[in-house]
Amino acid sequence: MPKSDQAAEDLNPHHIARSQFDAALPFVEDLSDWRGMSEWLFDPERVVKLTLPVVMDDGHVQVFRGYRVLHNTARGPGKGGIRFYPTVDEDEVSALATWMTWKCAVVDVPFGGAKGGVECDPLQMSIAEKRRVTRRFISSLGDDIGPYTDIPAPDMNTDAQVMAWIYDTYQMMHRHTINLAVVTGKPLDLGGIPGRTTATAQGLAYVLERILERGEVPGLSRIEGSRVSVQGYGNVGRYSALILHDMGARIVAVADIGGGAANPDGLDLEEVDAHFREAGTTLGTPGTQPLDVKGPLEVECDILVPAALENQITLENVDRVNASVVIEGANGPTTPGADRALVDRGIPVIPDILANAGGVAVSYFEWERNLANKLQVEEDEVNARLRAQMRRATDGVLEVYHRLQDHLPEYRDRWHEAMPDAPPLRAADMRTAAMVTAVGRCWSALAQRGVWP
Ligand code: NAD
Repeated sequence: MPKSDQAAEDLNPHHIARSQFDAALPFVEDLSDWRGMSEWLFDPERVVKLTLPVVMDDGHVQVFRGYRVLHNTARGPGKGGIRFYPTVDEDEVSALATWMTWKCAVVDVPFGGAKGGVECDPLQMSIAEKRRVTRRFISSLGDDIGPYTDIPAPDMNTDAQVMAWIYDTYQMMHRHTINLAVVTGKPLDLGGIPGRTTATAQGLAYVLERILERGEVPGLSRIEGSRVSVQGYGNVGRYSALILHDMGARIVAVADIGGGAANPDGLDLEEVDAHFREAGTTLGTPGTQPLDVKGPLEVECDILVPAALENQITLENVDRVNASVVIEGANGPTTPGADRALVDRGIPVIPDILANAGGVAVSYFEWERNLANKLQVEEDEVNARLRAQMRRATDGVLEVYHRLQDHLPEYRDRWHEAMPDAPPLRAADMRTAAMVTAVGRCWSALAQRGVWP
């Protein structure tokens, strides 16, 4: 890859979200008045920025920045996780909120998109400090979240415990009402639902299974017997490795922020877990080859699962990806330049807004159950619903994907007529097909509602 292209690569997640949106627009049917409508569809409805003073364990006051972005509520209330991470900023949270809107539309759950984040390093914080940051963030958000308006969930460095604190804080501020539905991903004893912790990875496995059985990946028709490499060993990465291993795959590499472990014959995940519990990283697992944090992206494998964070497969390393298919567990792990390079090499990329939508699909089941105050359900029932939903969503995206490929000349003509100065239209990949599905559904909802007043 020429150095100048690498230097020019724009890694701002919100700009990347925009370029994915722009790539889909020429293929969206019935998008009239598209200039005005596309601004309405893309720009966030609301951006909340907060200053959060917190007393740390040693008594000093530390100020954190918190963000909650409500991207679009055309199809339902906002839905999206809360991330604790040192590099959280407005552009990242806005991009993640935008991707949530498309994700909910792709799997057809009646939510819009939202996301939140606090710029902090939870690895350097005690449990008590993390709890105080959570409570201050939620109390400062006040009614900017709510069971019918904007519903948080877990994301990087936040888990069921953090969701319990979110619920508790909101409940303290709204006594005498039932508010379990204000947040999903809660503990089971607090309105949570079995299968939510594994849902994102489980959904990813269902999507992959369907894509492979439909023959969309040259030379690879099943998970069983395949070699899988996973970047990120948290909720999404670790459960993806475990679930795909249970489905018969060989996990050849994993990595977390401290480094990773590889074994071309297949890792023993129990040993990886045992080492991780002791050392806090997968690096150094006995009997494995050491990897750096990006190592799994370059290991020879059939299925590559980036499951850490944005901008991991870029123009700098894309030529070294050695997989038959990439399935995005993380949000935004592939830059647009790398995306094009992979597709040009015949490596399909199953996009985040489809691949990791299992989490929000099961969050919907939890929310629905909380609103109706219903009794607990069985995990098998949750997974059966999830499987049907993810297969339906995958089939829907594939249908659009093939339609766009089959009718490319007609889309080209229509686009050039509308936009004579626009660059030539590229053939649509799976991301574009998923975006066309999502943007089309959101646009249809907006168009039927009309512009207020
Ligand atoms: P997590 O905090 O449980 O795990 C994150 C993993 O990434 C950890 O192993 C961590 O060590 C690693 N990591 C952190 N910083 C890194 C860096 N700079 N380089 C490489 N690795 C790094 O988070 P998670 O919930 O598994 O989320 C991972 C990704 O999946 C994120 O992009 C998130 O937005 C996305 N996602 C999560 C869910 C969910 O339900 N949790 C749903 C959909 C999408």
